[in-house]
Amino acid sequence: MQVTAAVARTQGAPLTIEQLELDDLRPTEARVRMVASGVCHTDAIVRDGIYPTPLPAVLGHEGAGVVEAVGDEVTTVAVGDHVLLAAAYCGKCARCRSGQMAYCENLFAADFGGRRSDGTTAFSSAEEPVSSHFFGQSSFASHANVVEESLVKLDPDVPLDIVAPLGCGLQTGAGTVLNELQPRLGSTLVVLGTGAVGCGALMAGVVAGCSHVIAVDVHDSRLQLATELGATGTINTRNASLAEAVMELTGGKGADYIVDTTARPELLTQAVDALALRGTLAVVGAAAPGTEATFEIGASLVKGWTFKMVIQGSSVPQVFIPKLIALWKQGRFPFDKLVKHYALDQINEGFADSKSGVTVKPVVRH
Ligand code: ZN
Repeated sequence: MQVTAAVARTQGAPLTIEQLELDDLRPTEARVRMVASGVCHTDAIVRDGIYPTPLPAVLGHEGAGVVEAVGDEVTTVAVGDHVLLAAAYCGKCARCRSGQMAYCENLFAADFGGRRSDGTTAFSSAEEPVSSHFFGQSSFASHANVVEESLVKLDPDVPLDIVAPLGCGLQTGAGTVLNELQPRLGSTLVVLGTGAVGCGALMAGVVAGCSHVIAVDVHDSRLQLATELGATGTINTRNASLAEAVMELTGGKGADYIVDTTARPELLTQAVDALALRGTLAVVGAAAPGTEATFEIGASLVKGWTFKMVIQGSSVPQVFIPKLIALWKQGRFPFDKLVKHYALDQINEGFADSKSGVTVKPVVRH
């Protein structure tokens, strides 16, 4: 069938709106009519060639929509179901079978390969293959053939154009805190960077009962938003030293937990000095392969720190996304304050507004 999609054709260039051919559904897929899709930093770095998904490609990995058809082997959704789309995983490797889908051994192929495991793409343009199945979905299209592992069934009363971005950035931030760090009641959480991932982490810190939730950024407008979302303190690193400011806000104790969403080496080096004894630093930001950060290991041995790299908030999307939606319905995870809507033909504006910081979470309506 013919579909309308935003296509990444050339590294670094704006996406182009095109008519593509969508192929026949495979037995393990569902065809989803997309209602909305969040725009995420990961889409931008793949568009720019930092990760090697073959172009041309239909990106987009925070989709939400309605199931129009299901393959013979699909058992978890039916025609007419409302679904949110999350990252794909193979479901068969040792990590997946241990409930650690975020660390699937076949993650790169499943999410960034741009092809099914048999080498085919779902999209084509005048016989030319166009990469599909980005994060199992490729949601910047009116319709997509989505792998079952990416599908999270929703109650039909949940607004799809609001919840769409829960599938990646917000899940990453919130899951890092709630699934991975599991902060002790009354502990201190510092979040570096207050984009969608950082905001997800700090709202989760409030949910988890952290007594200090400190937001760090270089834009005062972002820090104001962080305060509205529940941050108890803010630091603008343009005019303050990160470690000194954290020590001041915590009575000299430092942070029990730091979540870094920036992947900036110089900030990570400073962040380590803001950790409390036995503190944990979790790195979730995406950097170019080869990026390194340094920290002191001589005098620091006695500090007993833990460093972690965390993917997708260590979430099982089918388990964790419904929990976030329940918290949102109760007013305890007010991520909708971050969302601004764009039409599909304004998608490049959404990318630009995300980069400049005008919009924390652009969501395209199809
Ligand atoms: Zn796997």
